[in-house]
Amino acid sequence: MRLSKTVATSLVVAGSSLATNAASSSFDYVVVGGGTAGLVVASRLTEDPSISVLVLEAGHSDSIDFNVTVPGLDLTVTGGSIVDWNYTTAPQQFLLNRTIAYPRGFVLGGSSSTNFMAYTRGAAAGYDAWAKLGNPGWDWKGVFPYFKKSTHFTPPFKNQSEVVFDITAYENPTGGPLELSYGGYIEPISIYFSQGLANTSGPNLQEGEINDGFPIGQAYLPLTVDPTHMTRSSSSASFLAVAAQRKNLQVITSALATRLLFAPTTPANPTPVVTGVEYSDVNGKLQQATATREVVLSAGTFGSPQLLMVSGIGPKKDLTAQNIPIRVQNEAVGQNMWDHLFFGPIYEVTDNITTFNQFNANQTLFLKYLMQWRNNQGELSGAISSMSAYERIPSDVLANIPGGDQLEALDPTWPHIQLEVIAGGGPPTPQPGNFVAPAAVLLYPFSKGFVSLTSNSTKDKVIVQPNWLSSETDRQAAIWAFKQVREVMLSETLAPIVIREAFPGLQAQSDADILTAIQTVAHPIYQASGTCAMRQLSDEGVVDPTLKVYGVKNLRVVDASIMPIIPSANTMAPTYMIAEKGADLIKADQQNNSTSTTTSS
Ligand SMILES: Cc1cc2nc3c(=O)[nH]c(=O)nc-3n(C[C@H](O)[C@H](O)[C@H](O)COP(=O)(O)OP(=O)(O)OC[C@H]3O[C@@H](n4cnc5c(N)ncnc54)[C@H](O)[C@@H]3O)c2cc1C
Repeated sequence: MRLSKTVATSLVVAGSSLATNAASSSFDYVVVGGGTAGLVVASRLTEDPSISVLVLEAGHSDSIDFNVTVPGLDLTVTGGSIVDWNYTTAPQQFLLNRTIAYPRGFVLGGSSSTNFMAYTRGAAAGYDAWAKLGNPGWDWKGVFPYFKKSTHFTPPFKNQSEVVFDITAYENPTGGPLELSYGGYIEPISIYFSQGLANTSGPNLQEGEINDGFPIGQAYLPLTVDPTHMTRSSSSASFLAVAAQRKNLQVITSALATRLLFAPTTPANPTPVVTGVEYSDVNGKLQQATATREVVLSAGTFGSPQLLMVSGIGPKKDLTAQNIPIRVQNEAVGQNMWDHLFFGPIYEVTDNITTFNQFNANQTLFLKYLMQWRNNQGELSGAISSMSAYERIPSDVLANIPGGDQLEALDPTWPHIQLEVIAGGGPPTPQPGNFVAPAAVLLYPFSKGFVSLTSNSTKDKVIVQPNWLSSETDRQAAIWAFKQVREVMLSETLAPIVIREAFPGLQAQSDADILTAIQTVAHPIYQASGTCAMRQLSDEGVVDPTLKVYGVKNLRVVDASIMPIIPSANTMAPTYMIAEKGADLIKADQQNNSTSTTTSS
């Protein structure tokens, strides 16, 4: 259901003025990517009026599609939309050779403008593991304040009395610009599923706060929804909105970064020094922007490694295959892609269970919901999924899974599986009926993938190869998790609303049948990370603990690609945290440089 569309133009936000091009070509910092992380970095750096920042965003202004604003229309702004890059994966050998759509936001706010808005942080132990890889300051104690820094939390409304939360997980004395609330609507299927998870002996998961570093259990999720008007709070609607009037910030849309610019190297100074960015403007004309201090790559898990590689920083094989001269050989660039896989059976439910299928098929109903949304309530004021549960696979099950000992070895507070339910969907072969899609997610997959170049130009998309379910451990864990979902959906608690299992159907009982069902429907929930991992150089690292790219000067990566281990959560909240901490690391270097300049002068 689409509300409005306008045509693409190049938007330049420079203080309060709009222009067709950058007012200047030299800045202290050039940020590539006006997405989730990029706009946080730009907003924080320009708090100092003496610092100038240019943001280059390849996609559109977020005002191009009104659906971005309406939480309940989140599915309409993902794959196939004007505000999406519309990536497709390489054929997935372990998913019946399917190629699968992989959305990424092509718009100000990036994927925070097109995602499903669930705000989750994951287990504290996961961040402690980041620190143990040689990243001091990235343990839970070090990152928790940065999670809180970006957000302003609104507790559940009176009519959301079923929501359990702990205010200490969110308390922030200054309050960040990113709005967190529980939206204006919790789907009935989420309430049933939540009760089923609590009552069913398998999962037996009770409600509690999941954003305090100890997620095992279940909760209704805070969403990045501004409760004032029930609108999406993306990094554009929050961080850019705060900074847009600053004279020291310029943001250009329809500006595709094409390569990094470097100072000439000499035998005396052999380390490449980044001096700026070349980009293609809205007319396709190449422009150059100079960064007198640093370039910050925030182009995301696919875009950041691509820009490194086309600029000569990456694996020898990939670069030579595209005739790109090698500046810094680093075999890890684009590798180590970690992602969560999402799969489950499909159920037909009674008509009193509201789903997006219902309003997609009924214009009158859609208009009714739209009017309700304008009054801050109703289906469109929430996301497609309102709750999540987190659990461990039991030790006796892991003992019989090849590689299960590695899952067992994770800290006992680190969940292996996430369970949730989408209010809508349908079987792979379309059938009439009202459907819901309960699902499991593998939170610590052993299958890893990569992105690689198809040409020497950022105008061509990278190959996205997630390699999902290539690990036998993952396949066995997935089969166990599928059975958990089924147990909940077929429990007494859900009996009043479940009509039948529409896919795969109850005849599918053997592990082989269940694996085939998983391979038929599994798809990502778009949490790709790790392609520019923050690790030691000798341990497949691309950036150091201050997010500086190894082997070059004046270049950092600040986005989801730096995650060295995928969090046991969705990746938006961790990306905001990375951006807040990244901005502080950049500011700390300004401080150190000015101190050393003062000292030496
Ligand atoms: C459909 C969908 C649903 C999701 N749902 C959730 C959810 O409910 N909860 C959750 O926690 N996470 C969710 N995620 C994941 C989460 O949104 C991302 O992990 C996070 O937003 C990534 O932030 P980022 O800054 O790394 O990248 P992005 O936000 O994608 O930003 C990258 C930006 O760089 C721009 N760019 C790329 N290349 C170039 C270039 N060469 N030149 C200029 N600009 C460039 C892009 O256009 C984009 O704006 C979802 C993601 C998607 C796509």
